[in-house]
Formats: sequence, structure tokens, C-alpha cells
Amino acid sequence: MTHVRTVLGDIRPGELGVCDAHDHLFLRTPHLPALDDVSAARAELAAFRAAGGAALVQWTPYGMGRHAADLGALSRTTGVRIVCATGLHQATHYDPEVLARLRGGRLAGLFVSELTEGIAGTGVRAGLIKVAGGFHGLDAHARWTMTAAAEAHHATGAPVAVHLEQGTGALDVLDLLCGELGVPGERVVLGHLNRFPDPVVHRRAAESGCWLAFDGPSRAHHATDWRMPEAVRALADAGFADRLLLGGDTVTPAARSVDGGPGMPYLLRRVRQRLAEEVGAELVERILAEHPGRAFGVDWKS
Ligand SMILES: [Zn+2]
Repeated sequence: MTHVRTVLGDIRPGELGVCDAHDHLFLRTPHLPALDDVSAARAELAAFRAAGGAALVQWTPYGMGRHAADLGALSRTTGVRIVCATGLHQATHYDPEVLARLRGGRLAGLFVSELTEGIAGTGVRAGLIKVAGGFHGLDAHARWTMTAAAEAHHATGAPVAVHLEQGTGALDVLDLLCGELGVPGERVVLGHLNRFPDPVVHRRAAESGCWLAFDGPSRAHHATDWRMPEAVRALADAGFADRLLLGGDTVTPAARSVDGGPGMPYLLRRVRQRLAEEVGAELVERILAEHPGRAFGVDWKS
């Protein structure tokens, strides 16, 4: 049986509904102002719900302020289903002491326990493993985290979601995860493809069977974000319409709609309509309401 593992328990993929497939309620890193405010997160989720949103996948991994203990109540009070992540981001987002401690243990074991038992005693189970590539390549840290992610995938069935640095390195990531480490393409979700809109690379990546997530808009990536509709259409025209996902990827307080940014509602307020002009409303509805259930719904082994 295929299920999406939400913070309130496992559900059938069809129950997910209109879903923001890559976003953040909470995120803490030395590089950005923190998303750390529970009431702002609740207000943003409520605004997303009011715009027609039903579910959200938070790609915040281990050690970056996920607020696992708050996610159940946030989901219950707003009526938005939430899927949260385990996994590990690039080294630059962590205190070196945290990484030294993790290197001394078994990283795959940490991922598996967060996926099957829960995060830090909260009972909230992660529903995906988030890892990250580097700029046009993979360093030793990326290889270590992806090797652990693949091991945890093989033990549990969990999907693996990948931050592509500036949208680059997609084929290196797929060579490692799918080629060397045996993760099936359909269990890999690549994020940030709008940040490096090379249609040939997008097509090569799609040929692996992986999911391609377009997420934004963002101030930092404004230079390429506007090319998202044509990139989505190119993939659809090439026969990869059923590989596409959409998300908001809110990473700073100022990007939240309740603080004056586009935030989560923008996906449904503007992106949906703009893409409908490009590829038709029917496909856009499938991308929003059907594909996330297929991308994050797996046959859990434990
Ligand atoms: Zn993100």
C-alpha cells in the first residue's frame, strides 16, 4: 500500500489534495534571517489554506530548526496537511561540531529513525529525506549525505529530495543516487530547476524518471525564475508532463505573504494561472493535486 507520511500519520496519496511540493514553515541557517516564528508560520499556512491549498511539503532537514514538535498542532489548527523532512543540507549550514558528531555516528541510522520512529522524541515522523548537491558538482560532504540517504531509502522506501545548488549538478546527482547507489529515478525529487533553465539538462534529468520541482519565486533567483513557464512547457512538450512538481520555497520571513512577500499563496494566486496559459489548466491541476501524492507516496517498508 502506497502512503504519504504526514506529520499526523500516513495517508493515501489521493487524500493529499492541492499541494505546495517544496516549501518551508521553518528554516534556520547562518546564511539567512531565520524562519522561526510559530505564529507567523500558522498565519502563512492559513493564508495558503484560504487560497485553496490543502498540503505542504517542508524540505527543512535535520539541525535546521524544523520545529517538529509544533508541526502536528499547526496542521490540525489550519487544516493543511504537512509532510516534513529528515536529511542533511550542505556543510555550510551547520556548526562544525554538529557535523563532527554526525560523522562519528551512522548518518543513515539517524535518517531511518526520524522516518520510522519520529524526530527527537516528538513522535512526528519525517516523510522524505532532503540532501543537497554542490555548484556543478558533488563534494565529499554531498557524497556522504547522499550515500546515507540512499541507504535510508533502501531501508524504508522514503523519497529523496535534492537541493540543487543554483539549479546545477542535476546529472551528477542522478549519476550518484540512481547510477551508483541504486535509488529508482521515481523516488528522487530534484529541486530548484528554475535556477538553471537549461532545457537539455532538464530533459536528460527527466529521462531518469525523477521528479523535477520548480520552486519560487525568490528575490535571489529573480534572474531565472521568470523562465519557469517556458521550462515547464518544454518538458511537457518533450513528453515529461507527468514528472513535474511546483512549490513556493519560502526561505526568509520577508518572503512570507503575511509579511508582504509572495509566500505560499502566490503558487495558487499567480503561478497556477500563468502556467495554465502555457500548458493548460488541466495539466496544472494534475501537477498541483496529483503529482505530489505520487512523488511522496511510497510503499513504506517500516
Ligand atoms: Zn527549499
